[in-house]
Amino acid sequence: MSLGQLYVISAPSGAGKTSLVKRLTDSDPLIKVSVSTTTRPPRPGEVDGVNYHFTDVETFKQEVAQGDFLEWAEVFGNYYGTQQSQVARLLEQGFDVILEIDWQGAQQVREKIPGTQSIFIVPPSLEELERRLIGRGTDAPEVIARRLSEAKDEMRHYPEFDYLVINDDFDVAFEELHTIFKANRLRTERQQARHGAILDALVK
Ligand code: GDP
Ligand code: ADP
Ligand code: 5GP
Repeated sequence: MSLGQLYVISAPSGAGKTSLVKRLTDSDPLIKVSVSTTTRPPRPGEVDGVNYHFTDVETFKQEVAQGDFLEWAEVFGNYYGTQQSQVARLLEQGFDVILEIDWQGAQQVREKIPGTQSIFIVPPSLEELERRLIGRGTDAPEVIARRLSEAKDEMRHYPEFDYLVINDDFDVAFEELHTIFKANRLRTERQQARHGAILDALVK
């Protein structure tokens, strides 16, 4: 059994998933985020290997054929996928690992890896979602329009997830999200895996 716990986090584009996950990994050294591979072009400021592994369609399809991906999906006309080897390594090292992936990827991971915990993040309203996508200033107007029109379809999948966080006030949403990770670490089977020696000494 690996020591770490696998999480998938999904949200409509602009709900604040990336900002919340960044705050989590900045503040909790036990949490790591898996860096996805994508055929989407980098946004200004995005760094290859940090935000994504940026690649072309041909290479992506080769990696799919080789079975490199734990899951992959086409989202907004681009391909996105999670490299299996990276996730396995981090879990073996005992980290909680976050996959920031869409609902299609979440379904694949739930089926492949039982015990995966899934979290859905929603904005407080559609108007606020639009404000955030425009305010982020990273996407062209036609890209924003497409993401908004697909947001409702994405959000219809929220009942499939174990946890639901409403990202209205950022600090409140961050605390709620962090609580999920802290509570899961206290589950008896995970405490046994981490603190076997202490527990054995107490009940021998
Ligand atoms: P964002 O929505 O602003 O984070 O924009 P991105 O272009 O970074 O991501 C677009 C969509 O692709 C989001 O719904 C992500 O959750 C999803 N996505 C990113 N990486 C992966 C991945 O590795 N696998 C899958 N299935 N979806 C991904
Ligand atoms: P996602 O990764 O889900 O697409 P981002 O993390 O890029 O979303 O957030 C979209 C935009 O909304 C960013 O400009 C971010 O700074 C802003 N944002 C995130 N959460 C909040 C919040 N609670 N209140 C106001 N703005 C937010
Ligand atoms: P960064 O990558 O700089 O950590 O965060 C990206 C964006 O997330 C910032 O430009 C900011 O708008 C948003 N963000 C980060 N922290 C907060 C916060 O505490 N409150 C709100 N409302 N937004 C935040």
